[in-house]
Amino acid sequence: MNLNEKYYESIIDHHGSKLLLENFVNEKLPNYKSKRNFDFGTYEENCVSGLSPAIGRRILNEKDIVKRISNQFSYGQVEKFIDEICWRTYWKGWLEHRPQVWYDYLDDLKQLYPFKSDNVDYKNAISGNTGLECFDTWVNQLLKFGYLHNHTRMWFASLWIFHLKLPWQLGAEFFYQNLIDADSASNTLSWRWVAGLQTKGKKYIATMDNINRFTNNRFSFSNKLMLSNDDVAGYKYYEPTYVVTKSNPSKSKNKGYLIIEEDLSLVNVDKNCPIIIQSQSYNKFGQSEQVESFSNKTLKNAIEYCKNEISHNVSTFTWENAELIEKWVKTYSLDEIEIIAPTVGKYEKIIPKLSDRFNLNISYYYHDWDTSFWKYSDKGFFKMKKQIKKIISQFWETPLFKNF
Ligand SMILES: Cc1cc2nc3c(=O)[nH]c(=O)nc-3n(C[C@H](O)[C@H](O)[C@H](O)COP(=O)(O)OP(=O)(O)OC[C@H]3O[C@@H](n4cnc5c(N)ncnc54)[C@H](O)[C@@H]3O)c2cc1C
Repeated sequence: MNLNEKYYESIIDHHGSKLLLENFVNEKLPNYKSKRNFDFGTYEENCVSGLSPAIGRRILNEKDIVKRISNQFSYGQVEKFIDEICWRTYWKGWLEHRPQVWYDYLDDLKQLYPFKSDNVDYKNAISGNTGLECFDTWVNQLLKFGYLHNHTRMWFASLWIFHLKLPWQLGAEFFYQNLIDADSASNTLSWRWVAGLQTKGKKYIATMDNINRFTNNRFSFSNKLMLSNDDVAGYKYYEPTYVVTKSNPSKSKNKGYLIIEEDLSLVNVDKNCPIIIQSQSYNKFGQSEQVESFSNKTLKNAIEYCKNEISHNVSTFTWENAELIEKWVKTYSLDEIEIIAPTVGKYEKIIPKLSDRFNLNISYYYHDWDTSFWKYSDKGFFKMKKQIKKIISQFWETPLFKNF
């Protein structure tokens, strides 16, 4: 899906993302249910929001989105969109229940390292030289724009696994490194879902007819596309282990706030307290320059916002220079550092390590949106889906939607 400069400028901060949401609500949301699966090639023509880079970093949060759309529509009119918003929450929760899935994926990537330098099919795939027009177009789109439409991500993953017969882990890595909305949970678990490893035996096999129908016949196929239906090896059952955790920050007056790139919501931060915020993206998994630069811009905006709207005491640090956090604690004589609880991915291990290394008292704030949904994320999505209305209604005293 082609994107323009204006889109990237909007999506990096709260104000711009809200305007993007506003446009989406007025122009596209009424047709979301019937048109969301079409990828016509451009953001303007497609009927999706493009909000994932902001939602993923919590520049825009789920509650604000649901509240905004409730002003204008009945629940039934926007149920599909709310379900999709909740899919993300569900994947996050599913991975919180089973962090081992993420660590096994990282281990698999290490094992596959030699494959990447030896395998010609892999090299052709990531450079868009497979000869399959649609796939090569999507590779170029991903590299250029850092974004693919959801249906296209599904076809892409399916072709990668069942046509090019490449390991799903390398496809997930290629996405993670190049998507500006890269997310450890949504990405890894969607790839596993396409491969048939999420729900045993249920894989997603793309077809030429389906691609033709939902892309308006934009691509030509030299031969009829036939994907294999072979099971992908490596199915393993993971026992859910997550115990719902409550926020544990105290009311201490000597508290400071640590802000990292994965959650820029700032919802927990008290006015005029010391803040330390990450200034450069932590590029642990080889993300592209485009993704890194996008993340850096979101951080720059968040720093400006903190300085202008929240506190006079705003410091910055990078993960290469984490000693600055210890120095900051000493400068302000802090007895507690509050952080929004990091989720399984880049940060959930670094934060406890930081606490041990500098002997810091770190407390975790959890979004009630997450904890309310995560307790239902241990099994399939449809178990959680049944609870969506009930969970949403608890956040507001009066019902949000008419006919709720
Ligand atoms: C193989 C594969 C890899 C994916 N990797 C990622 C990823 O790294 N990061 C990511 O955020 N999403 C990922 N997705 C999910 C989905 O494709 C994107 O969230 C969606 O395309 C984002 O575009 P949008 O904001 O225009 O979506 P919209 O259709 O406008 O949906 C609104 C929001 O709902 C959520 N959402 C929508 N569809 C899904 C979905 N299928 N799963 C989870 N959440 C969803 C997103 O937060 C999205 O911003 C992946 C899907 C597949 C099939």
